[in-house]
Amino acid sequence: MLAKWGGKDTSFLDWYRNTITPAKANFFPPMEEMFSFRKDREGYRIELPPSDEGKQLIFGIRPCDARALAILDMTFKDAYEDPYYLSKRNNAVLIGLGCIKPYDSCFCTSLGISPAESTDVDLMLTDIGDQFLIEEITQKGKELIARASGVEDATEADEARAKEAKESSYNKVARKIETEDIKEKLLPNFDNQDYWERVAAKCLSCGICTFLCPTCFCFDISDELVKNQGERFRCWDSCAFPIYTKMPMENPRVEKWRRVRQRVYHKYQFYPMNFGVIACTGCGRCIRQCPVNWDITQALNSLPAKVKAEN
Ligand code: SF4
Ligand code: SF4
Repeated sequence: MLAKWGGKDTSFLDWYRNTITPAKANFFPPMEEMFSFRKDREGYRIELPPSDEGKQLIFGIRPCDARALAILDMTFKDAYEDPYYLSKRNNAVLIGLGCIKPYDSCFCTSLGISPAESTDVDLMLTDIGDQFLIEEITQKGKELIARASGVEDATEADEARAKEAKESSYNKVARKIETEDIKEKLLPNFDNQDYWERVAAKCLSCGICTFLCPTCFCFDISDELVKNQGERFRCWDSCAFPIYTKMPMENPRVEKWRRVRQRVYHKYQFYPMNFGVIACTGCGRCIRQCPVNWDITQALNSLPAKVKAEN
């Protein structure tokens, strides 16, 4: 998870790669109070939590995770306005830091993202050896730089070193998926039960992949009640869990293969249908952190081109 910075020690810059928990947790926490309530003679009294107007500066966010926030905005800002998410999101400054050492599980370049370039942040930093080259992306970023000390104009040599660093990072992302004809491949395979059963076999339904995915946003709402008062809170939920779709009369995703298929289709078929973008940024967390090494790139790359006709 992102850690609070004391303002002095910069040694983390030598070893920092990417966080296990993405920055989404700073805007959409794993558990969050929505309101508290109390019942008295006149009925229920509702109290909202103190408004979250504190400013956050997130330093070192990677381009994949910054893009993921832009994708989350489509749900929490455009489709409907989520006050809990927006109060934090609107008060944040994002300072991006390009990857120098992408993980072998990263495949961001297949999703049109460069590991060292981003327009989804306010300022973008590139490590050019003994200095950082800073690009001002937004007005917020410009204002921040105007107030900073020790910033010098970049020289042509600095620009050239930054270009080289960006190209080098890009070329280090070796894992690839083919996204061009992904819809054409996914649609006919929706009912290919044999394929999805094989693909899903080793999944444990633990939900880690969805909790750590920077674009997953499912949550559950519960009440915690003690006598006549309590709290309503929301917490992360996961389509990997067997009871996620449980309803009084039915559960349409009891079988594991249906849940694994849902995760893949949500990202690569349904989100593009609703919002015009793939809801995966190739950050690779779901591969790195999965206890059984379930690999979404293998599932996508091995989709059968032709599905056998049913008898
Ligand atoms: S992290 Fe791995 S085992 Fe757990 S639900 Fe995701 S794919 Fe399945
Ligand atoms: S599906 Fe996996 S690779 Fe894609 S954004 Fe989510 S965690 Fe990252």
